[in-house]
Amino acid sequence: MPADPLQSAGSPPRSPTSLPPRGPATSAVEVRRSTRRSRTVSAYREGDRTIVLIPARMSEAEEQRWVTVMLDKLAAQESKRMLGDAELTERAERLSEQYFEGRARPASVRWVTNQNTRWGSCTPAEGSIRLSHRLQGMPEYVVDYVLVHELAHLLVPGHGPRFWQLLDAYPRTERARGYLEGVVAADRLPHLPAARGE
Ligand SMILES: [Zn+2]
Repeated sequence: MPADPLQSAGSPPRSPTSLPPRGPATSAVEVRRSTRRSRTVSAYREGDRTIVLIPARMSEAEEQRWVTVMLDKLAAQESKRMLGDAELTERAERLSEQYFEGRARPASVRWVTNQNTRWGSCTPAEGSIRLSHRLQGMPEYVVDYVLVHELAHLLVPGHGPRFWQLLDAYPRTERARGYLEGVVAADRLPHLPAARGE
């Protein structure tokens, strides 16, 4: 998923610069200079690379300084949103206890990056639940809602009245559904860069 298509225009890429490892999320960093940029610096992840966009006239020293600043910013954002698969499984178990008297018993709960049209999915026969990585960074009650939703599918397939009756146990179902609808709608609007320096 391109992190920020509006920010992808610029001059041709220079050769990627390798930096010392700064944590699990960071690998190659590519700096792109743009003559259309006069003051702003922005950065985003593209696959396992990090793209940093800087004004064309910036000096090498400035470039190094900004790359460091932007990597720190991205890492700070990401550390807030990352919940590992183990924590996710624990959380699902806790939610099942809380709302379904522990009746929904997932065998595995994990993040997947190949699921862009659905927030979550489950395979009842295997007891496996998968959450889209696009939920990372969203409020906890939204991630919990998707977990509760998929847990409920372990008990009731489809979206009939019995299913929604189960979901009524989770007090923020409506709010979370509204949030997710808003995210889908916002995807179609022009938006600002994810991270911005200056
Ligand atoms: Zn469903």
